Amino acid sequence: MANENTLQNIISHCKEYGFIFQSSEIYDGLSAVYDYGQYGAELKKNIKDYWWKSMTQMHENIVGIDAAIFMHPTVWKASGHVDNFSDPMIDNKDSKKRYRVDHLIEAYAETLEVAAASELLQTMESLLAQDDFDGLKSLIVRNNIKCSISGTCNWTDVRQFNLMFSTEFGAVAGDDATDNTIYLRPETAQGIFVNFLNVQKTGRMKIPFGIAQVGKAFRNEIVARQFIFRMREFEQMEMQFFIKPGTQKEWYEYWKTTRMNWHRSLGIPEERYRFHDHVKLAHYADAACDIEYDFPIGFKEVEGIHSRTDFDLRNHQEYSGKKLQYFDNDLNPETGKPIGNYIPYVVETSIGLDRTVMMVLSEAYREEDLSTAEKKDSRVVLKFPPFLAPVKLAVLPLVKKDGLPEIARELMESCKPHVKCFYEEKDTIGKRYRRMDAIGTPFCVTIDHQTKEDQTVTIRYRDTMLQERIPLAAVKEKVLNSVYVF
Ligand code: ATP
Repeated sequence: MANENTLQNIISHCKEYGFIFQSSEIYDGLSAVYDYGQYGAELKKNIKDYWWKSMTQMHENIVGIDAAIFMHPTVWKASGHVDNFSDPMIDNKDSKKRYRVDHLIEAYAETLEVAAASELLQTMESLLAQDDFDGLKSLIVRNNIKCSISGTCNWTDVRQFNLMFSTEFGAVAGDDATDNTIYLRPETAQGIFVNFLNVQKTGRMKIPFGIAQVGKAFRNEIVARQFIFRMREFEQMEMQFFIKPGTQKEWYEYWKTTRMNWHRSLGIPEERYRFHDHVKLAHYADAACDIEYDFPIGFKEVEGIHSRTDFDLRNHQEYSGKKLQYFDNDLNPETGKPIGNYIPYVVETSIGLDRTVMMVLSEAYREEDLSTAEKKDSRVVLKFPPFLAPVKLAVLPLVKKDGLPEIARELMESCKPHVKCFYEEKDTIGKRYRRMDAIGTPFCVTIDHQTKEDQTVTIRYRDTMLQERIPLAAVKEKVLNSVYVF
């Protein structure tokens, strides 16, 4: 169920506990650009490492690369981004505010009854599919959709707006710079396509095989809002899977299932997800769907799965004049001869790292009322699966004396080479537990006077808040066992 308040609470929590800050905050921030703080960076890295391992280690036929953000400008001609990477926009003449047409209509639809909203959205989808800009404008005017700032319905025509950021390469700036214009990549995929043959030949890869990559992408999003859901600088985790033409339907289905299983392995139940098939296919695709998660702002895309045909490799072959083909040694059952050269087809899986962080945070965030008859009490806890938690273990000596810190330090030294640990002596134990709940630490271990006598400690579990006494020597194994996922 969509809940804007929950999102606001998550945003405040992320700021208060060092997960996510607005970029350049001391200068009042930069819109739709965010920095990850000490715990956010750990969480993001854990998600990234898990994805990377799932792709490149658990699939023997997938390898990972790390391509540059800057690419030859012709790449973006060949990929279609210069001509097609744009969204239909409309400006309100009174407020001068620019809107993405689909976002404007979708926001209005949310105020309608279910049947009316679905009729409106269907009409919008079909107009978008036909690039019918006049039709879209008259749909907005007919429904009397107003600008939220000016409150008027005084709209310009609908126009396309390219989302790529450009910059100048080398020393020349100003009027002479046109030849030097390059783009900040709007997706990581093209770094994989242009390296297809390098990887295939040097890795002696046989089709079907995949190339994976994690990296920054940049889009000059017009309507940039909803926290890290839509940013102007963000990270993608993409995998291009190269296959024999004609087999794309099977592989598309394979990757839909495989990726949904990955999502479930994050500890998120299936009913929190749904597939959304694209009605309007991108210029490169013959089938496409999104995996949507039920964010506090409603069901929204986290990952796209696209059957991209041979669109990209074929265009790069044409624009570069270099052959981008694969020689298939497998025998053609009809002729008994090798299948020979072809341009592979591609099925890609493309997931936003930041959106996944937001998904994992939304799923983990809980405000719990712990009041009893005697006393009012509550806590905010992040119930991350242990393998994703920024800190796995907190080591807490009950008091700062009597040799307890020394024992605690020893435990720290034995665990910290393996998992991220946190040591703290200050404040009451209750306050320390709550702070660990707020950053999602699954295990807290308290060293007390009894530890000195019988070598046992109290381990406290984040989700249940239950405490039990276990041997000091058993802590490390218990924590490590909970963070292995494969
Ligand atoms: P949307 O429809 O939300 O703009 P998209 O369909 O353009 O997304 P893709 O081009 O398929 O997105 O990119 C793959 C993934 O990259 C998306 O599923 C999303 O998780 C992520 N992504 C795309 N744009 C952004 C953005 N501006 N901020 C954060 N993540 C993004």
